[in-house]
This record gives sequence, C-alpha cells and structure tokens, in this order.
Amino acid sequence: MEPYSFSKILDKWNTEHILRLYDSVNEEKIINAIKKEALSIDDLIALLSPKATPFLEQIAQKAHRLTRWHFGRTISIYAPIYLSNLCASDCVYCYFASHSGIREKRVTLAEEQIREECIELNKKGIQTVLLLTGDAPNRVPVDYIANAVRIAKEYFKSVSVEVYSMEEKEYAQLASTGTEGVTLYMETYDKDTYDKVHLSGKKRDYTYRLDALERAGRAGIRRLTCGALLGLSNWRLDMVWLALHAKYLEKTCWQSVISLSFPRLKHTPSRFKVPHLVSLEELVQIITAMRLFLPYSPFNLSTRESAEVRDHLIPLGITSMSAGSSTRPGGYKVFHDTTTTQRPVLEQFEIDDHRTVEEVVQAIKQKGYDPVWVDFEPGFIKSL
Ligand code: SF4
Repeated sequence: MEPYSFSKILDKWNTEHILRLYDSVNEEKIINAIKKEALSIDDLIALLSPKATPFLEQIAQKAHRLTRWHFGRTISIYAPIYLSNLCASDCVYCYFASHSGIREKRVTLAEEQIREECIELNKKGIQTVLLLTGDAPNRVPVDYIANAVRIAKEYFKSVSVEVYSMEEKEYAQLASTGTEGVTLYMETYDKDTYDKVHLSGKKRDYTYRLDALERAGRAGIRRLTCGALLGLSNWRLDMVWLALHAKYLEKTCWQSVISLSFPRLKHTPSRFKVPHLVSLEELVQIITAMRLFLPYSPFNLSTRESAEVRDHLIPLGITSMSAGSSTRPGGYKVFHDTTTTQRPVLEQFEIDDHRTVEEVVQAIKQKGYDPVWVDFEPGFIKSL
C-alpha cells in the first residue's frame, strides 16, 4: 500500500454514501450485526444508527462479553503530564488556543519542573504517563519533547506523547528516546467542520494531521491512539470515519497497537458553543458499537467524564482510564497551589472527575476489576 493514503478511503466513504447506508438500516440488519463475529462497516453503521437505540441493552451485553474475553477484568491506569500550554494554533473549542481570549498564565516547564511533576505522580503509584503540549513547535521543539520523554522514562515504565503533528523522522526521534505511544485526535474527520473550528496555525492543515498517526507508526511508535472530539460534528459520521481510520492503521502500521479514545466536548471557551452535544446514552451507543466492531482495541476514557459516568462505563468496553489528572502544566506540584499565584496557570479543559488516583483505583476494584499500572514490556520498544 502506498504511504499516507487514508484520504483516498475517506473520499470513497463520503458523507452522502454513509448517510444512504444509515437510511437503509432496519431491525434485521441490527440483529444480524449484533450476532456477527467480524463486523463490516455496514454492520457498524447499523449499530450506530438511531434505529439501534432499542437494542442498546443487547449491544452493551455483547460489548461487555467481548471486553472481558479479550482484556479480562482489568483497567489500565495512566496520568497526563502537561509540559506546556503555549499554542500557536487557534482551535475555537480549546482553552489553550492562541486567540481563546483567556488571560491565565502560559508556561513551559523547565527540566527541574518536569522532574518535580514526575516525582509527585510517581508517589501516587502512576507508572504510565502521557506528556502533552500545545501546538508551538518553535517554542516547544521536538528536542524539548524528546528530552522530556527521557526525563519521564527515569520515573515511569511507559511514556507516551500527545503533541503536535510531526514529520516521520521527528517521530523516529521520539521512538528512539523510548516513547511508547502517540495520541493524536483528528478532532473531526468532516473537512468543512474541521476548517471552521481550526482558524489558524499548523493544525489548520487537515491532510497533514490526517496522516500523522501513520507517520508515527511507520517511525516505530508502538501504540497509536486515535479519536474524534465528540460534539464538534455529526458523531454518526465521525465514528464511521474513525473506525475506518483505526482499521486502516491496523493494516498499514501492523506492528503498532491501535487504540481509541472517546473525548466528549462539554466545557469550552465562551466564544464557542458545542454544536452537537452528545448525550450519555449516545456515548454508551458509541463505545459499545465500536467495541463490537473493534473487539481487540484498547479503549480509553479520560477525566473529561464525571466519576459516575466513568464508573458506569467500566464494564461496557473501556480498558484504560486516566486518574488524578490535571490539565495544567505544573498542576501536580510546581503550580499546584493556585491561591498563591496572582495569575493561575492556564488549564486545557475542566475535568469532571476530581477523584485522586487512589479513589479511582478503589472505584475500579469495587466494580470487580483490577487496576493495571503498566500493560506492556519495555523490551517491545525498538530502542531498548
Ligand atoms: S487543541 Fe491543541 S492545537 Fe488546538 S488550540 Fe488546543 S492545544 Fe492548541
């Protein structure tokens, strides 16, 4: 397969084609999709259809069985570490956006501050972390991120990044430092919506972002996490495109694990109202239908969701959860105390699950699941 060709698949699976398939869904197609072992995209569309809501209980039961079968009673735990909130892109839904109008402090953690954050999370038992930055390659270059990975590797067994889209050779540089995963959400696969919500900066380049995870996979990154920001556009289209993307990456980057996240947009800067709010019932339909389509893929759920919602979703397909999160650089230690600084450090979004790591661990155990602190062998990583 020629490199970076997912856009050709998207051309084939255009909006009109997918909407026609949604129109053709009937009860028989939904029941057949629930019974099947290997689902086609047409089957997934049947399960994501509004006509499938009366079958949600059956879909959820099968999602539960498949997740137990492939992952056992386990939930992996990770925590984000925000390295910087500088951003040169202007995404209307994000507090870090260059023109968000929010005056809180912009910072990039120095080496010693990264260490302080790592030590603080380490004390809480965290072994898997995700390092995040905004989209500011001039001020927060690849060398800085690679160095942050090196530092974090001194404290944690698994280090992944969620940063700006890079060239393949830059991803290779991160892989060579021991970066296990790259998380990169397309936000929305709908090109018109994408153009409307990404006003300026590097992130405005739709195709460059679309191909980024494939570049990361080809560069040797072991775990690729994709997702769409639920609420930006019609989720019934975005989830089909996300499923196609995951399948495409499974083929082109066959040495990597392809995992999915389901970030639901709720809190946004005042200039932007979420145009397609996703209900809890819809979120359940999304996660459970995707589980039937992708039975082996790890599914993540972040603290964007409340404690109650996260606990409810544990048995329905989720395999990995963040815990004790802060979305502010220095939020665990360096700038933890917001009462002593005149201007607090800007956070990326408000979290809805404020429990400590220990409280999340207890909640997982109460559901009859085992928390897993690290779910891979370091020997899998090329550089080690
Ligand atoms: S979503 Fe990312 S690129 Fe866009 S404004 Fe926020 S931090 Fe910057």
